[in-house]
Amino acid sequence: MPEPLSARCPFCHRLGSDRVCGACRSEVYLDGVSALAPYGNPVVRKALQTWKYDGDREIEKVLQQWLTAGAAHITPPLAPFHACAVPLHEGKQRQRGFDQADVVAQWASGLYGIPHTSLLVRKTKTASQAKRAGGSRQVGELDGVFHIRRDVAVPEHVLLCDDVFTSGATIDAAARTLKEAGAKQVWGWVIARGR
Ligand SMILES: [Zn+2]
Repeated sequence: MPEPLSARCPFCHRLGSDRVCGACRSEVYLDGVSALAPYGNPVVRKALQTWKYDGDREIEKVLQQWLTAGAAHITPPLAPFHACAVPLHEGKQRQRGFDQADVVAQWASGLYGIPHTSLLVRKTKTASQAKRAGGSRQVGELDGVFHIRRDVAVPEHVLLCDDVFTSGATIDAAARTLKEAGAKQVWGWVIARGR
C-alpha cells in the first residue's frame, strides 16, 4: 500500500484540501480531485504503466486492493455521486482491449455503493485540428472532444474516474462537458496524482 497523499488543490498544488482552491476555481470545471497515491512513487507508476501499456490485467488485483485499503481516505464529499469514466476514444479501446478508466469507475461504484453510468463519448481529433494546435498544448485544444452519450440523463453529482491525474487538462475537459449538460458537481477520483 503506497503512502497516502497530502491534500492539495489539484491544479496549483496549494496544500490543505482536495477541493479546487478559490484562486483556481474560475479557471476550471472540476470541483476537486481525490487521489490515492503519488504518481511519482516508482511502484505505483510501474503498476499503472504495466496495466495500461502492457495490458497486464493481473495487476488489477493489486490496484484494487490499494483502493479498497485507501477508500476511507479518498471518499469524495457530498455523496451521492454517480461514478463515470473519462473514456478512451473507441479506436484506442479496441487496440488495448479494455478501458482502464472504466475499470476504476466500476471499483468506485463497488466501494461506495453508487451507480456506475457511462455518460461520455470521446471523439478522435482530426489531423487538421492537431496541426492547428502547433504541436503544443493550447487552451481550448480539448474543446469538443467529449460528448454526452445519447439517451442518458446527466446526474447532478458525478464522480469522474480515471487512472492518473497529471495536468488535469483532459479530465477537466470532460468535467466541462458534464457541467454544460447540467451536472452541478463533478469530482475527480483517480489512483495516482502527479503531485
Ligand atoms: Zn488552486
